[in-house]
Amino acid sequence: MSLKGKTAIVTGSNSGIGLGIARELARAGADVVLNSFTDRDEDHALAAQLAGEFGVAVRYIQADMSKGEECRNLIAQAGVCDILVNNAGIQHVSPIDEFPVEKWDAIIAINLNSAFHTTAAALPMMRAAGWGRIVNIASAHGLTASPFKAAYVAAKHGIVGMTKTVALETAQEPITCNAICPGYVLTPLVEAQIPDTMAKYNMGRDEVIKKVMLERQPSKEFATVEQLGGTAVFLCSDAAAQITGTTISVDGGWTAL
Ligand code: NAD
Repeated sequence: MSLKGKTAIVTGSNSGIGLGIARELARAGADVVLNSFTDRDEDHALAAQLAGEFGVAVRYIQADMSKGEECRNLIAQAGVCDILVNNAGIQHVSPIDEFPVEKWDAIIAINLNSAFHTTAAALPMMRAAGWGRIVNIASAHGLTASPFKAAYVAAKHGIVGMTKTVALETAQEPITCNAICPGYVLTPLVEAQIPDTMAKYNMGRDEVIKKVMLERQPSKEFATVEQLGGTAVFLCSDAAAQITGTTISVDGGWTAL
């Protein structure tokens, strides 16, 4: 599978799943635009490292995905967008009657609204190029719910709905739009929660992972960022040209329960 000549923009891609997807797209030959809201030397160094490793062009463009105008500017500044991966996302856990309004607003803005803005800005570029792939990173929480995650579950269900609508609007064009729904993935963010959880439950690392973190993941294994990257590359392949408006779960059986 070669994505040589295609340019992929991956939002929220200086760590975790976004970076894993960017790496697999670069491995498949795509030029890549990395993004986050920071503008540190290490962000640009990451782009240079990926470019060197895979022999593709990689740029880092700073843009805050909580702001609609910056989402649209990210696409405009990139100048070309064959593959759009809407990945940037945050979480906050709280009962709904205590949910801080600013956390609700930030989650809806970053996890849902940003994809509206980037998609609206990228579609004309895909139409001009005569080819496009939109891959939205939803979650098992785009298909099921958990208590205390009202904003996240609402945003992820929202992005699954938007995925279907965009797919219908582009159905007769060589453009597809799908959502990947990961279960628990061992990203730095999740790794950082392990020591506290071990202390809270007085358990060892393996016990915390299997009994607490992966309670709802029947495989009792984390999904990996490489597996998510591979799924994104598949959705960009010719084999996936008739796959549109749907979700692919990478969740170790979570949503089969
Ligand atoms: P992460 O914290 O490692 O990565 C999130 C990325 O988004 C980072 O690059 C961060 O810099 C970026 N980001 C955050 N706020 C931003 C903003 N305002 N503007 C631009 N970029 C911003 O987390 P992750 O686990 O890799 O999550 C990535 C996506 O995968 C999210 O949408 C998340 O909801 C989804 N997801 C994660 C898991 C999991 O278990 N880790 C499971 C299902 C879905």
